[in-house]
Amino acid sequence: MLYTSTRDKRVRVSSAEAITHGISADGGLFVPETIPQLSADDLARLASLDYKGRAKEILSLYLTDFSQKEIDDCVEGAYADGKFSSPKTAPLHKLADGSHVLELWRGPTCAFKDMALQLLPHLLTVSAGKAAGGKQIVILVATSGDTGKAALEGFRDVPNTQIMVFYPSDGVSPMQKLQMTTQEGANVAVCAIKGNFDDAQTGVKKIFTDPAVAQKLAQKNKMFSSANSINWGRLVPQIVYYVSAYCDLLADGEISNGDAINVVVPTGNFGNILAAYYAKEMGVPIRRLICASNRNKVLTDFIETGVYDRRREFYCTSSPSMDILISSNLERLLFLLCGMDDAQTKTWMRELSEQGVYDVGSDMHKRIADVFFGGYCDEDATKALIRTVYEQEGYLCDTHTAVAVQVYRDYAAATGDRTPSVIASTASPYKFSKTVLAAVAPDVCAADEFGMVDALLEKTGFPCPKQLLELKDKTVRFTQCCTRETMEDAVLRAML
Ligand SMILES: *Cc1c(COP(=O)(O)O)cnc(C)c1O
Repeated sequence: MLYTSTRDKRVRVSSAEAITHGISADGGLFVPETIPQLSADDLARLASLDYKGRAKEILSLYLTDFSQKEIDDCVEGAYADGKFSSPKTAPLHKLADGSHVLELWRGPTCAFKDMALQLLPHLLTVSAGKAAGGKQIVILVATSGDTGKAALEGFRDVPNTQIMVFYPSDGVSPMQKLQMTTQEGANVAVCAIKGNFDDAQTGVKKIFTDPAVAQKLAQKNKMFSSANSINWGRLVPQIVYYVSAYCDLLADGEISNGDAINVVVPTGNFGNILAAYYAKEMGVPIRRLICASNRNKVLTDFIETGVYDRRREFYCTSSPSMDILISSNLERLLFLLCGMDDAQTKTWMRELSEQGVYDVGSDMHKRIADVFFGGYCDEDATKALIRTVYEQEGYLCDTHTAVAVQVYRDYAAATGDRTPSVIASTASPYKFSKTVLAAVAPDVCAADEFGMVDALLEKTGFPCPKQLLELKDKTVRFTQCCTRETMEDAVLRAML
């Protein structure tokens, strides 16, 4: 299987090259030229395997230039026993309304990013061995909070790699910030940036594609790669858990083989929901993809109108990992839905960067609206949902998951659609203790982040991941803050 660029179809590279380079030289994103298919029999067979077994089979359909042994070793390393706090890796929890919460936050950093970022360093090391000509890999990450920590943890002390993370100084939760600034490892660097996530992402993209910077790295026998969800190596592990969730529903007798499900995803950069779209295109019977946004509802409006318009106010919300106005992975969906028309995709992306808006036209809009439903949830409704679910059934949702559950309930009420639904749960509630505590115990005050964690634990008894409790005693290693203009300097200083 070969990969092409969303902005130039003449590009044809192996998966190792796509993963090593992260982004195509023309600025486009790599996508597989064809989508492998799973039959109902395949799904039944996968249902009899464990998570690792399912991951190995699905990865081998996409990474055809990897040997089976390479794939097996990557998967065994990423999802080794004990790394995730559930033997199922990504377990389902059934809510009283009949929906199934897919807990994607059981990994080392307590956010769904671990599902991909525990695997990516393994995939990248193998890929670089095939495609980097012996160069050392330098990873640059722009994070809205969770990617940064998950990438740091995934890459720490991985031989032949260095990693630098930029996060918006006022755009992450105290817990997220502490997770990053206390990161251990000899090959890691962390820097705050004055601005929001889009500033950080735009700055990283600029450095990443600057030939002068690339040359400086090359002189030291280094090259950039990306751990952001623009990297195909981030997306392919995410396809696995949607297939796996379907298999678990089958294995648990919740559905029969062939039954359709809906998938609900709290969305920011459009990576997670795009992985669900790939699962659907592979043949997993998914009827609707429900795209849940917070107040930054650029995607809700896009799905409703076909016009993507980022020229709007940016809000800092209690679900900061979704505070995004430029959803990078949407480019891949557009490319697929317009019949892989690279020129058209490139035009829309140019309009977005030059005018801040593009209109996909009525045909494309119809294709999008046939598959996707978009909804959003404001701050009050997010809190109210957390409280209701806790009070009614003792289950604690984080703020991002709450947005998704609320949008699912709105969707079900508006449409009457009773299709069994899987709701992606993307973080442990203890990563966002302030809002979660205020929702379930508005009268309790706590002095600091860890006071809130303790209060939440005491009030609810819901298990708190020990790696979050342990942060209290860690030393802060990184205090640097830069601007968009000084990001490049910071990279060169830390990485050369
Ligand atoms: C990254 C993240 C999201 C958004 O995922 P995308 O793939 O960017 O759409 C949602 N919730 C949490 C907790 C996240 O960390």
